[in-house]
Amino acid sequence: MNNKNKSQTPFELTILGSSSALPTSDRYPTAQVLNILGRFFLIDCGEGTQIQLRRQKIGFGKIKHIFISHLHGDHYFGLIGLISTFNLLGLKTDIHIYSPSELKDLIQPQLNFIKGEMKVNLIFHPLNFKKLQKIYSDKRVEVFSFPVKHSIPTSGFLFKEIQKQPNIKKEAIQKYNIPIAKIKDIKAGADLTTESGKIIQNKTLTTPPPKPRSYAFCTDTAYHEPIIDIIKGVDLLYHESTFPEEMKDFAKKTLHSTATDAAKIAKLAGVKKLIIGHFSARYNDASLFEKEARTIFENTDAAEDGRTYKVKSSS
Ligand SMILES: [Zn+2]
Ligand SMILES: [Zn+2]
Repeated sequence: MNNKNKSQTPFELTILGSSSALPTSDRYPTAQVLNILGRFFLIDCGEGTQIQLRRQKIGFGKIKHIFISHLHGDHYFGLIGLISTFNLLGLKTDIHIYSPSELKDLIQPQLNFIKGEMKVNLIFHPLNFKKLQKIYSDKRVEVFSFPVKHSIPTSGFLFKEIQKQPNIKKEAIQKYNIPIAKIKDIKAGADLTTESGKIIQNKTLTTPPPKPRSYAFCTDTAYHEPIIDIIKGVDLLYHESTFPEEMKDFAKKTLHSTATDAAKIAKLAGVKKLIIGHFSARYNDASLFEKEARTIFENTDAAEDGRTYKVKSSS
């Protein structure tokens, strides 16, 4: 695959904010943008999200879907500012917001003051906190919400590419003179029977499609093993790591995780890469968290605001 094609199939996560409840001079509260094949999904929207979008040169008009994990302020206080900006920019578009149902009631009083001039059309999709649920899908991507364990109802999110069909080799079409009517069946896995009755196996006719890529977002949550089956084998996992293990009792009490907890989940779920974040403002050096997690799960990075993590397409 050449570079041009690669750039047309992005699957990349940009961290806009990786602090916990208190912002620091280096870290904004939680927000991130996941670009899958040109769809820009905003995940959480802590205070200052719109400034971070500007810094990362991500156009506001690209965002059509916003996922809010829960209603602690560090995950949604940036939303009203962002909506107001959408409106000031005159964006006449639908914005889908996947969130706890109460969010609408929380921001409606503020929206009422810009009513009449509202150009964006907000469509609210209430989350279900009881079970895994598909909340978005199109031809190429699907998104699921699932419950995690926190002090108020909170959702994780799972973003997955949909498996593409295999490609038929051009030379096979010519060699065996494959009629158009049979192409659909071959793409679906059928072998080819030639006019002379010879059976040509599917694998000699096709090239496998790229493996679907996936990303799971798990914050805020205590150590919670029921999520393991849901996030099994994802390419990229963002798991909160508010505290180091030395504060495990406090982490447990406040329904947050330690770096050790996050790494254990990554290992048990067999993910390919772990990004930890939502660091407590008491610690100004995230390498402490990274070091701790790497003793259990080596492919761990401590999130940095403004950094982008790419997942390459592979067969
Ligand atoms: Zn939080
Ligand atoms: Zn929280």
